[in-house]
Amino acid sequence: MSRISGLDIARVTLKQRRTKIIATLGPASWERKTLHQLVSAGVDIFRLNFSHGDHAGHREAMKRIRIAARKADRYIGVMADLCGPKIRVGKFEGGGIDLVQGETVIVTSRAVKGAPGLIPSQYRRIHEDVKKADLILLDDGNLMLQVDRVRGRDIECTVVHGGRLKDHKGLNLPYSTVSVATLTPKDRKDARFAIGLGVDYLALSFVRSAKCVTSLRRLIAKEGANTAIVAKIEKPQALTCIRDILDVSDAIMVARGDLGVEMPVEEVPLIQGELVRLAIEANTPVIMATQMLESMVENPRPTRAEVTDVATAAQLGADAVMLSAETAVGAYPVAAVKTMNRVVRLIEGHQWKHGQFDKLTDHADLGDAEGGAPLSLPEALSRATSLLSRGLAVRAVVVPTNSGNTARSVSAERPAAPVFCFSDKDDVCRRATLYWGVTPHKVSAKLTRDPPALARWAISKFELATKGQTVLLVWDTSPDRDGSQRGVSVVEV
Ligand code: PGA
Ligand code: MN
Repeated sequence: MSRISGLDIARVTLKQRRTKIIATLGPASWERKTLHQLVSAGVDIFRLNFSHGDHAGHREAMKRIRIAARKADRYIGVMADLCGPKIRVGKFEGGGIDLVQGETVIVTSRAVKGAPGLIPSQYRRIHEDVKKADLILLDDGNLMLQVDRVRGRDIECTVVHGGRLKDHKGLNLPYSTVSVATLTPKDRKDARFAIGLGVDYLALSFVRSAKCVTSLRRLIAKEGANTAIVAKIEKPQALTCIRDILDVSDAIMVARGDLGVEMPVEEVPLIQGELVRLAIEANTPVIMATQMLESMVENPRPTRAEVTDVATAAQLGADAVMLSAETAVGAYPVAAVKTMNRVVRLIEGHQWKHGQFDKLTDHADLGDAEGGAPLSLPEALSRATSLLSRGLAVRAVVVPTNSGNTARSVSAERPAAPVFCFSDKDDVCRRATLYWGVTPHKVSAKLTRDPPALARWAISKFELATKGQTVLLVWDTSPDRDGSQRGVSVVEV
């Protein structure tokens, strides 16, 4: 293909996509055939949204995902998204109502079915938390009401921005102090159920502090599980203590839907960039979510702005990009995943060709040996791995991993070569589906304890390198050997 000189669009396609794709399951995607197509199109993790559907539906979805993964012969992660104190409206006669600007409507905490002029809130104490002149935002801020007065459980409002309001749409009170706990009784029930299903990640909505995360952690421990936690960042309060939240979370999600309602929308680009940077610095995977290809809910082709948004997430170095309504209820779920895959791959080919993966991490402390805190051993190993991956143009990084921590830490340094992580545990492999650049594989426990043998086996089995090329092997711990031997070695084929 001819090129306009001066514009270098490298059509390099890397064998392994680095940025992972998360797709939300829903009526548009949970039929077996669509699910298989989504897997083939490149979905790495499915999100079960507990804001919708019932336990029987999620159980069936889980079963189908596991079958699809087995058929595709690769690991697919599952993330159960707990709705948290997300306030939602209830159901309406006929599935929705029209709100007309200037008209009066009642938002009620009474358990009733909605009708024209009457909006039921699923949050039963909403009448205690709002006062006159507060704003109530509906459907990700598309619709707006202003409170005129509160009478018992009924809140009389005037419609500021009108439009169609459908069943179960979100309701935000950005200027009110909501008294409800982050982990609601429904979340607790859903979390226990999801843990029982064996999901890999539990996402917690509307996290306000590290405490919200640790309360879910305690529940998980009580169930005898160690399910990973994704803290969804969508409240202004979370931004003020983000480092503490990163400390206690296994991943974070930039939940731009609610974030853009709770915060001035123009702040979203700066906040998302900062969140990705801080997460990478903290070795914590980060997911970019919501409205990425929103117009594909209805159209087979995305807007140019949406394509640019997906590209930006990859350029920032997010671990994963997520589809919500596009795959849950959209008309083109498979096309949405294929689009995301193409956009991300083109960016990554370009980044790789121009040696830009190292720009995704910023190590202010590297040039500052005196002032900088000493590195932990895994961090030091990972940085060395990343450096070698560039300097030697290695073909792959082989990582035997026990808990998955080594794989996560190597991934966080955004090496130039794809990371193949090997564990004897299915759950460790499934969890690693989220990590940037990491492809998990299961091997026998015996092989994980003999890294050199594992490297030799992996190189031939997955054709990681040909004669003369090099692969890196990261030695974490090798419990069967004398002492613990750790390091990075260069394996020449
Ligand atoms: P939700 O979370 O889709 O569960 O609301 C994501 C977001 O708010 O962006
Ligand atoms: Mn949200």
